[in-house]
Amino acid sequence: MYNRRKSKIVKVGAVAIGGGFPVSIESMTNTKTADVAATVAQIRRLAEAGCEIVRITVNNPAAAEGFRQIRRQIDIALPLVADIHFDHNMALAAIDAGADKIRINPGNIGSAERLAQVARTAKKRGIPIRVGVNAGSLEQGLIDKFGGVTAQGLAESALRNVRLLESLDFGDIIISMKASNIPMTLEAHEILAPQVEYPLHIGITEAGTLHSGTIKSVAGLASLLTRGIGDTLRISLTADPVEEVKLAKEMLQALRLRVFGPEIISCPTCGRTEIDLIPLVNEVTARIGHIKTPITIAIMGCAVNGPGEARQADIGIAAGKGEGLLFKKGEIVRKIPEAELADALVLEIEKIVETFSRL
Ligand code: SF4
Repeated sequence: MYNRRKSKIVKVGAVAIGGGFPVSIESMTNTKTADVAATVAQIRRLAEAGCEIVRITVNNPAAAEGFRQIRRQIDIALPLVADIHFDHNMALAAIDAGADKIRINPGNIGSAERLAQVARTAKKRGIPIRVGVNAGSLEQGLIDKFGGVTAQGLAESALRNVRLLESLDFGDIIISMKASNIPMTLEAHEILAPQVEYPLHIGITEAGTLHSGTIKSVAGLASLLTRGIGDTLRISLTADPVEEVKLAKEMLQALRLRVFGPEIISCPTCGRTEIDLIPLVNEVTARIGHIKTPITIAIMGCAVNGPGEARQADIGIAAGKGEGLLFKKGEIVRKIPEAELADALVLEIEKIVETFSRL
């Protein structure tokens, strides 16, 4: 469908990144890492929502010790990544504490020698490093060279640090270049992607709140993904990180890159709408939130596009005045009064899911 960029495979714990493997979903805890109970609880919520890789900040020795305890309490199948800024000793401590990957920021790790020390230690443990460039902390030399924070600067920062790791015979590399500016992000990836064979972690950083951050993230990430760029991603929101995971799943499913559960097709409603459609769609969506079977459900407000969409879906409703016509696999089944539509639809969906599970 999309011509995905070819990259080598890098394993982060049990999760394979790149090489055509499914685009994986990451998020990051926002608890204090030293608060082990709170962080473990948040990681479990993230995992329950479908997060496949969890990043945790390791910003002081107490956080490194917290990371060690957290790693012991979380199922080993869920990779835990240590996020490192400023202090390469924290990277060394996190590797010792069982990190499945280290994210370092070349703009603030200090020196090539420090990066080399982290690389040697990561290599010994057999874990990858993400070179995570961020527009907010680009090296001053590159800001001066390009007259500000630019796509060229982001790409050069990433490339310079990748080449340094390669010179140390370290090849388990993932790269990210994040900015809150979408055109800059796209341009940086266009510059860098053809020059490296490593998987790319993509994200629009500091994207904003649940509403505006979602729009910005999806605009930027979908643009990259449809160009075949992106092997793992994080949607960054000023919100509960669980929301990041839910949105990432919806975006990947909308792009047909992953399938996580049912797809609901519902019309926007208009002056022709024959029933109170919005609460009906919200209720059905909430009641089937636990279902993982990839079925299509159409809930449509009138006879204009209703029968067409309902016929094409696994199950659908095309509303008439105060009632809905139920379709299953393209066939009309029966008419249902409006007051009974939610219950009837959920019941029919459960029956279809049951049939799928027996296949
Ligand atoms: S399906 Fe009917 S009710 Fe829904 S938006 Fe289209 S015309 Fe309006």
